[in-house]
Amino acid sequence: MISAIISFIKLSWLEKIKRGSDMNFLTRSYAKSLPTALLVTGMLWGGGSVLAQEAVQPEATHAVVKKQSVKAQKFMVATANPIATQVGYEVLERGGTAADAAVSVQLVLNLVEPQSSGIGGGAFMVYWDAKTKSLTTFDGREKAPMAATPDYWLGADGVPVKWFDAVVGGRSVGVPGTLKLIETVQQRYGNQDWAALVEPARALAEGGFQISHRMASAIAKAQGEEKLDIFDATRAYFFDKNGQPLQEGTLLRNPEFAAALSQIQKEGSKAFYEGPIAEDIVAAVKTDINGGILSLEDLKAYDVVERKPVCAPYRGYEVCGMGPPSSGALTVGQMLSLLSHFDLPALGQGAESTHLYLEAAKLAYADRELYMADSDFVKMPEGLLDQNYLAERAKLIDPAKAMSKADAGNPPWKEAQLRAPDSQLERPGTSHFSIVDAQGNVVSMTTTIETGFGSRVMTNGFLLNNELTDFSRAPEEDGKPIANRVEGGKRPRSSMAPTIVLKDGAPVLAIGSPGGSRIINYVAGALVNILDFGMDPQVAISQPHIVNRNGATDVEENTKAVAMISALQTKGQEIKVRDLNSGLQAILIRPGELIGAADPRREGSVLGD
Ligand code: GLU
Repeated sequence: MISAIISFIKLSWLEKIKRGSDMNFLTRSYAKSLPTALLVTGMLWGGGSVLAQEAVQPEATHAVVKKQSVKAQKFMVATANPIATQVGYEVLERGGTAADAAVSVQLVLNLVEPQSSGIGGGAFMVYWDAKTKSLTTFDGREKAPMAATPDYWLGADGVPVKWFDAVVGGRSVGVPGTLKLIETVQQRYGNQDWAALVEPARALAEGGFQISHRMASAIAKAQGEEKLDIFDATRAYFFDKNGQPLQEGTLLRNPEFAAALSQIQKEGSKAFYEGPIAEDIVAAVKTDINGGILSLEDLKAYDVVERKPVCAPYRGYEVCGMGPPSSGALTVGQMLSLLSHFDLPALGQGAESTHLYLEAAKLAYADRELYMADSDFVKMPEGLLDQNYLAERAKLIDPAKAMSKADAGNPPWKEAQLRAPDSQLERPGTSHFSIVDAQGNVVSMTTTIETGFGSRVMTNGFLLNNELTDFSRAPEEDGKPIANRVEGGKRPRSSMAPTIVLKDGAPVLAIGSPGGSRIINYVAGALVNILDFGMDPQVAISQPHIVNRNGATDVEENTKAVAMISALQTKGQEIKVRDLNSGLQAILIRPGELIGAADPRREGSVLGD
């Protein structure tokens, strides 16, 4: 058996997959035979004193896998899928940088987790460059077509169309940014050949891969009312000839995607933004229902924007992430800044500290709704992270009594307040990965096609996003424009919060999550668990979620958090118990040691050396 395992691990990842190895064998073979390259599937909850003893209930589609932290010395990759993790590991093992690994990881995720991300979508990356010791961010968010106007989501009656009616079909498709983002970053920071980085996904698309449990469940759930089977190309890919959803373990080939990737190998992202693939995208969005207006010019003009990271101080750390058009770092930063006025480490985990957390969330989400959008289009207050402003806001938090709903504050701002709040909520269909390479570069990237399976529109073997539903569908309220309304060329407000935490000017943690507008809570909650309560990253992200988006408090069902409900109700919190499906992937960076963790609610994994 041992020698079989050793000869098995000497095979390339593609040969292993071709030999029909199931993923558990693949992962266990690494775990057993490479002591420093561990992968965390099928293991225990992490060791640590504050440990979630019960399994956390995942979304109905995926069984929880108990996991423990993974340790390594040189490099590490944590993604939402074991095949993607392995491909990233192999890039790092041959000396590639985090930027190189991100290319292979993202393209493989497109194939093996197509419901969540891909080149038909958008992404944000926070990048630590070890050479210059500097942090930067890249905005690969989708853009509205130039011809889009604020009434984009109004029906013939002048009333905003219903959210799900807007999702399905080409009208919700924004100009994708993910491919240009990974290309831009790889060109700047990579040392590997582009075509070789694209090759794992191309070969896997051509040779086929086994559908994972999570992907199969997602397909089955998306049939019927969720409309995954209404467009021909999409139906043909995800369903069999009898219209049945493809099952877990089915070998799925994607020759169209392989062909597209082969073009991308030769010409780079130009093959996507111009020429036949671009023409196919423009034709594909002209669906019978909800037809889109995205044009060849929109694709050709797409630009990735490098932006300054948004950082907030927290207990001696700098918590840095993605600024507008994402609301991620500003809202996470506000929550932490508000909490810095309370001694959470002394309080420890429990109803008292959770109540404070929920109140901070309400205040931060109130500002988010009113002020945050694409700042290239909308003037935003400069002072959203002004520490004096937030010290005043923190006084609104009563440790004994909950606010029902917080009002937005008045952060330092040169202009009069113009905006009306936007209560746009997103549904989860996103992925996060964290990578540290042997040179010390760090990637924290959250990547999305918006809801699960995006717009359901597929071309060239990849799905197109429905990101334009992240705009407010109503353009104004009571005569006041909504900051996050549709405008030509604008990027919809996001909640994605890829984060890198710095201590004394060096990175100590990379983390992020999917989860729609709850992302902000998932990330801030994990940061509190790690930075305030000193938890190991796996223990931290495995804790049951208790979140608030300026309304009722959501408590994760079937977890020990349910025991806290009555104490929170006594303080006046309105409680809803529900599934809370995060997908946190974290890497803690210590001198000479990397500690990685993948969310037990999904099928993610960690590999390092
Ligand atoms: N489209 C959402 C955003 O950009 C993310 C959706 C999700 O996390 O599932 O904020």
